[in-house]
Amino acid sequence: MNYNTDKYKIYTWKTPLVLHWIINPGLAINELIFGQKVPKVSLVDKTSDLPFIERSFVPCPHCNALHDQRTWSTQNGTAFKNWFGLYCKSCGKIIPCVHNLFSLLILALTFPIWGWFRKSLKENWLSKQAQRFENLDTTKIPNPFDGKNWWISGLKWAGFMFLTMQVIWPLLDGTGITWESLAKGAVIWPISGFFFGFTMKVFTTKRGRKKEHTLID
Ligand SMILES: [Zn+2]
Repeated sequence: MNYNTDKYKIYTWKTPLVLHWIINPGLAINELIFGQKVPKVSLVDKTSDLPFIERSFVPCPHCNALHDQRTWSTQNGTAFKNWFGLYCKSCGKIIPCVHNLFSLLILALTFPIWGWFRKSLKENWLSKQAQRFENLDTTKIPNPFDGKNWWISGLKWAGFMFLTMQVIWPLLDGTGITWESLAKGAVIWPISGFFFGFTMKVFTTKRGRKKEHTLID
């Protein structure tokens, strides 16, 4: 598919943000457990002066529909459970997504277990998609990092990371929960959360360059 590069900046696997999704081992959890997916191609309108999240789109290669990126958001309950890819509500097909390398590896190693059920799992998943995307109004979705919300979102993220890295992970890998690691986490995650919230605020609200109107048009 050819896109208008005068209007859109094209995000593919070569974009650092997407590349990070592919190579960060931790994100395999997001893909495999939560079913969070990143499309192979995203378009960002560089001529619009709207905040970043309001000028990001996902094109469907099957029907050419251009979907607002917020179609797949936590507020809609559609950010997760997208194990087989992003569902296109216009044509009912699946928009191709990139794969995290570590989830690919895990999937390959465990293929003998789930491979048998792949077809029925996918059919079952696909049959449930249409209703998830019914009556979506992406314009009503507030940016969780806008205004003063960024630090609340940052703290929520910190809480999630603390629980995952200081409580759940030590239990899984057998090292056990220690006071030292809890204390470390209580310092590291709020600070990281502060930076995370702030970075996301700057990033999601960044405006494109609106084309200046000249006397000719
Ligand atoms: Zn489509």
